[in-house]
Amino acid sequence: MLTPEKAIEVQRALGSDIGMALDECIEYPGTRERAASAAGRTLAWARRSKKEIETRAPSDTNPQQVFFAIVQGGTFQDLRRENAAELVALDFPGYAIGGLAVGEPHELSCEIAGETAACLPPDRPRYLMGVGKPEQLLDYVRCGIDMMDCVLPTRNARNGYLYTRRGPLHIKNAEFIDDPRPIDETCACVVCRRYSRAYLCHLFRANEILGAILNTHHNLYFFLDIMKAIREAIAFGNLSRFSSELQARSGSGSSIVE
Ligand SMILES: [Zn+2]
Repeated sequence: MLTPEKAIEVQRALGSDIGMALDECIEYPGTRERAASAAGRTLAWARRSKKEIETRAPSDTNPQQVFFAIVQGGTFQDLRRENAAELVALDFPGYAIGGLAVGEPHELSCEIAGETAACLPPDRPRYLMGVGKPEQLLDYVRCGIDMMDCVLPTRNARNGYLYTRRGPLHIKNAEFIDDPRPIDETCACVVCRRYSRAYLCHLFRANEILGAILNTHHNLYFFLDIMKAIREAIAFGNLSRFSSELQARSGSGSSIVE
């Protein structure tokens, strides 16, 4: 049985940089009753997690490890605000917004994420869990989100679905068997500098694990490169102009895997 205390203990043993308090994430669409119950349980578990964090020794492998609390409340803004306020009172070093990206429209995710982020302290990281597609990252940053995580770049990579600035490609396709070009000619990652589409196509078709490793490296680089560009755009104060350029390079939202 996984309890809030056990979850902290496991994450301490793993020594991750950021650990998460155990929460209850509900489905979409969820009733108000379900959302309120999950938010209440998440708050009670955050209190138990906080106590566990403060009364036990830090991680042996990573003494710098910090734990974030997770805001729940479904798609109900008042429940989100209330849950956020009570979690903020517990004084965690960072806060996550959970329970989104579970099937609701992108516009609704942004609306809830934005209003919830506004309830969180400006001097603590805000982490939106389980998002997003390349073309959505900027939307979330504009909502006040600092951090995101998603299986998309790695899972798609293992399936041979690679992101490029001209749109995604399926490396297993016959058109790449003799293609000497890199995945993306404008990508600076070591895979694009060194290997051809033909070689990666061969690795995929041969079911060679190196293919999954190289594809994953490229896709992660692609996502991190977008975040780097967003940080630069913020630093130079031209986030709006950057938006149209990003849409062009992320392939007009044609991701095959949600
Ligand atoms: Zn690359």
